[in-house]
Amino acid sequence: MEHFDVLIVGAGISGVDAAYHLKEKCSGKTFVVLEALESFGGTWLTHRYPGIRSDSDLHTFGYGFKPWTDAPIASGSQILSYMGEVIEENDLHPHIRYRHRIHSASWSGDENLWTLEATKTDTGERCQFTTSFLWMCQGYYRHAEGYTPDWSGMEQFTGRIVHPQTWPDDLDLDGKNVIVIGSGATAATLIPAIANICAHVTMLQRSPTYFFARPNSNEVVDMLRDLEIPEEWIHEIARRKSLKEQEAITRLSFEEPEFLQTELITMVSDLLPPDYDVETHFTPRYRPWRQRIALVPDGDLFAEISSGKASVVTDEIESFTKGGILLTSGAELAADVIITATGFNLSMLGDIHFTVDGETVDLADSITYRGMMFTGVPNLLWIFGYFRASWTLRADLVCEFTCRLLNHMETLGVTKVTPQLRPEDAEMQILPWIDPENFNPGYLTRSMHLLPSRSDKPEWQHSQDYWSEKDILPMADLDDGCLIYE
Ligand SMILES: Cc1cc2nc3c(=O)[nH]c(=O)nc-3n(C[C@H](O)[C@H](O)[C@H](O)COP(=O)(O)OP(=O)(O)OC[C@H]3O[C@@H](n4cnc5c(N)ncnc54)[C@H](O)[C@@H]3O)c2cc1C
Repeated sequence: MEHFDVLIVGAGISGVDAAYHLKEKCSGKTFVVLEALESFGGTWLTHRYPGIRSDSDLHTFGYGFKPWTDAPIASGSQILSYMGEVIEENDLHPHIRYRHRIHSASWSGDENLWTLEATKTDTGERCQFTTSFLWMCQGYYRHAEGYTPDWSGMEQFTGRIVHPQTWPDDLDLDGKNVIVIGSGATAATLIPAIANICAHVTMLQRSPTYFFARPNSNEVVDMLRDLEIPEEWIHEIARRKSLKEQEAITRLSFEEPEFLQTELITMVSDLLPPDYDVETHFTPRYRPWRQRIALVPDGDLFAEISSGKASVVTDEIESFTKGGILLTSGAELAADVIITATGFNLSMLGDIHFTVDGETVDLADSITYRGMMFTGVPNLLWIFGYFRASWTLRADLVCEFTCRLLNHMETLGVTKVTPQLRPEDAEMQILPWIDPENFNPGYLTRSMHLLPSRSDKPEWQHSQDYWSEKDILPMADLDDGCLIYE
């Protein structure tokens, strides 16, 4: 059985961030990254559907420490290359073990150690590791399979039903009639990428979504590059500019939601033909930002709709039929292929079975410490990024925090840290992990009962506000009584 001071689960954008920071900031610590898949990348390795790309800009989705030098919105393969460079440049390869799926983690208070059981996915061999500190970078959804609702009559449909998360290599869309169910970022990405091959693509949505269309270029970056400014500076400037813009949109969404709503809808309307029914298809019923706003680079989705290669239907599914989908309105859509861009299944902590001193851990019984740790669970920290801002902005902040915590423990000469409510927290109001009035995508509302709770105090909640957290987290007092050291 091998032992490491820190064991990182997952080699996605968060796990690689964690490994980089450990090497930089906690140089004496031994660590390993265990990853179930055959390579690094997580989300960007799993998703292979046509057109897979980011929906936030890479100056903020990229790491703070590694300049992004391409167009702001990046393809999946560009993100993988970028991550590959980070691994290469920082000699992280020797620390990563692929094809290791972890299925259980048990904490022993006698030894102050986690013992992890893993299976090597190529040989089926079981192996064990011990670690003093478990750093969960497992993402938030199940990689093996996406979420597909159970519609009536699905078994009758004679064509293929495909979820974008498990895109088959042999799927031929040439000349086919395709229905994409859903209108989130995945649909907005996929439709422009396939519209030219298919006979026609219909985006079928139950209700409209907000989009933000902008050119996939950055004039300031181009100008600075012309001036031969170092890439580190360009990255930082582009990052700050993007953050300023995102902050303005976030503030508007709370302070002047009607104004923002009008702006976003007008932006879309301007990219569609004059007589297009924007009211039915692009006027969402919720407040902007209650779900992530998908960025549409160069308005490509709207170009395909304007050209007639793609169309939008806003209706409900009554049932699947042999040849397509029957809608509640009575209309029927014909299809050869139906793509269910209907989201994810939330995965709590990588579907690993956790025990603490023999007792099964149910995160729903715990309260989150700053959206990173859980009451009653020692020496465990997860990276859960932002939904509204780029995920990696929070991953970077959490990495800095974790290294500060590990170094603090070293200075104190302790080996155990457990979040615990203080006497003054006894009366605080316990709330669901996230306020559904504030942010309510399906994968979260479906799984809220699995998530830890929060309170209204900043120490005991998962903030979605990068602009306050960027100042709060680096200064967070490690000795304010929320963390018990032993
Ligand atoms: C199509 C798509 C596009 C997105 N675009 C954006 C975007 O533009 N901007 C943004 O901010 N966010 C975006 N997101 C959200 C995105 O998932 C995160 O931003 C980010 O990639 C998550 O990285 P991660 O490393 O935390 O998790 P993941 O990418 O999910 O990686 C987790 C890794 O952990 C491994 N793992 C999990 N459980 C185990 C286990 N038990 N044992 C071993 N290994 C395990 C997995 O195999 C995986 O490789 C997007 C998501 C999707 C699906």
